[in-house]
Amino acid sequence: FPDVVHPVAVGIDCAGTGTALPRASGLPDGLFDHDGQITKRPIRALTLSALAPVPGETLWDIGAGSGSIGIEWLLAHPANRAFAIEADPVRAERARVNAAGLGVDRLEIISGRAPDVLPDGVPDAVFVGGGLSHALLEALWSRLPAETRLVANAVTLESEALLVQWQSDKGGDLLRLELASAAPLGSRRGWRASYPVVQWSVAL
Ligand code: SAH
Repeated sequence: FPDVVHPVAVGIDCAGTGTALPRASGLPDGLFDHDGQITKRPIRALTLSALAPVPGETLWDIGAGSGSIGIEWLLAHPANRAFAIEADPVRAERARVNAAGLGVDRLEIISGRAPDVLPDGVPDAVFVGGGLSHALLEALWSRLPAETRLVANAVTLESEALLVQWQSDKGGDLLRLELASAAPLGSRRGWRASYPVVQWSVAL
């Protein structure tokens, strides 16, 4: 994205030519190369808000897709670290290219399926955007310290049911996000609904 000027990446203070990246989370979807599997801008903004990055913290972005969540976590502060765990090698490579193009080539890519592959060390926060399963949640609870923040988004009924069950056991907040955008409907306009997303935020 040669016309995007990122203040951190180029070491300037919002001067120069081209489009400066907004500081708020929820960047335009078009800034990320993707194949349709991307957390859309409004949901991404709410997800970053729930993940609540603090300078110097580390994120595991599980089911990273285009890498958008991990990338926005890194853009939040130059001292932040993020691992992108992605089962599809084409998407994993795309996430790497997206990160480099947006000035955060420190996104650490792990190509493989969670929970079979997970980074070494411990994160401050974990986002599950894909690969949600009992086995994954059990693996996270068994190896991560108490107070690690977890945010998981579910679109399918099956993954929603899993979150409903785990929330009754572990607590935390369930939030249902139902968004619609105005779109042409015949000669007029109507609300085109997106699939509802159920988001679980909890401290381990
Ligand atoms: N948050 C992403 C979109 C995620 S779509 C973005 O904004 O771009 C869900 C992703 O999870 C898909 O790319 C899929 O390949 C990946 N996935 C599914 N199961 C997985 C698993 N067990 N481990 C790692 N990635 C997985």
